[in-house]
Amino acid sequence: DMEVAIKVVVVGNGAVGKSSMIQRFCKGIFTKDYKKTIGVDFLERQIIVNGEEVRLMLWDTAGQEEFDAITKAYYRGAQACVLVFSTTDRESYQAIDNWREKVEAEVGNIPTVLVQNKIDLLEETVIKNEEAEALAKRLKLRFYRASVKEDLNVNEGVFNTTSSNVTN
Ligand code: GDP
Ligand code: MG
Repeated sequence: DMEVAIKVVVVGNGAVGKSSMIQRFCKGIFTKDYKKTIGVDFLERQIIVNGEEVRLMLWDTAGQEEFDAITKAYYRGAQACVLVFSTTDRESYQAIDNWREKVEAEVGNIPTVLVQNKIDLLEETVIKNEEAEALAKRLKLRFYRASVKEDLNVNEGVFNTTSSNVTN
């Protein structure tokens, strides 16, 4: 049996919840102040997609995104992408186009999903639903609203779609 391994890059501005999302999916936990384990580039989790074992390797950025210093090695060989912005951070929403272009410049048009994280904070939202939906439509991306904190749409939403997009 050949095992399928998929490299997934998770991109977006700092503090939108990328590291938390990766940790939630791979370890099943949420902590208030997650710090990336030094020396680890990615976390992985094995899942079953259409009866096949698939190993998802989720690459984390170690905070380099804040300095626009993500290296080519981060993107190299990526087969899928999760673009993340936050409900409470308008800049992170406005930056999505830019992130999409960066990923595309490095690895071309790979299967990608768009995620609005922190929907547990919807009362503090700075992005209208129509705006988020329009962005997804314009970029032709599957769109999820998620809360890593409340464990909403992370397992059954974002990563489920991501893996079936690649293996199908
Ligand atoms: P990163 O910089 O994109 O990797 O973001 P982090 O994973 O470090 O998260 C930034 C902050 O947002 C941390 O304090 C997290 O605990 C918090 N956070 C992440 N996801 C959620 C969420 O769904 N809801 C809320 N309320 N906070 C979240
Ligand atoms: Mg992080």
